Amino acid sequence: MTRANASTRRDFLFAGLGATFSGWPPWHRPKEIELAETRFRIVYNGRSARRYLWIHGDEQTAREVLEKHIVSHKGVAFFIESQTRDVPVGNGKIDPNRMFSRYGAAANLRSLNPTWSRAEVDEALDELDGGREKLLHTILPPDDGLLVALHNNTGYSVLSEKPIAERMSLKEPGNPHAFFLCTKAADYEVLAKSPYNVVLEQYVRAPDDGSLSRRAAARGVRYVNLEVRLGEADRQRQMLDWLEAHLG
Ligand SMILES: [Zn+2]
Repeated sequence: MTRANASTRRDFLFAGLGATFSGWPPWHRPKEIELAETRFRIVYNGRSARRYLWIHGDEQTAREVLEKHIVSHKGVAFFIESQTRDVPVGNGKIDPNRMFSRYGAAANLRSLNPTWSRAEVDEALDELDGGREKLLHTILPPDDGLLVALHNNTGYSVLSEKPIAERMSLKEPGNPHAFFLCTKAADYEVLAKSPYNVVLEQYVRAPDDGSLSRRAAARGVRYVNLEVRLGEADRQRQMLDWLEAHLG
């Protein structure tokens, strides 16, 4: 199903007014969206094509930064309702940032649930297939809007992206854990002028891992991942402020 034909009657009614999802009257706006057993809380601030996502429940620094940010910046923020990185599916689990394609989800399910039979994997995949397009339709920004996903890490770094990145700017080689990952060359050009590390991944040739960045890149959606070390809230806020001040 494409984004266009996934539209609801409500989308259609408000499309005529030039409104987007965030432009719905407050009483029509959904407060949450779910995929399989995973639920996301939705927070709105005014009307804007900006979208924000916090998707890993154990990355509490990113959650705190986004909770404050959405109060003073227009857009729609999605918060996963989980305290842990992985979320339940069937009688097993999945990394929520691996459920955005069937192919990527299959690999992640097999890895996280090694005792599962093929039938159990297929059943979970079918459940994910049933809600994936609706979730993507809701989270991905309209038109030329931008989706910003906030993450924290404890070891992962920009250097891990080096083999698959098309372009890379290392302004802070001594702090590889803090970086932007984007899917559009125009955004890369801007972010590369920042004092921070940045990578561009627009045409990734590596196998689809089911992450939202890959899905966004494949659909031509403007997406930026903002990674900092867990606990470094000031740093994440600083980088997010830089992005807001420079990316239209
Ligand atoms: Zn994460």
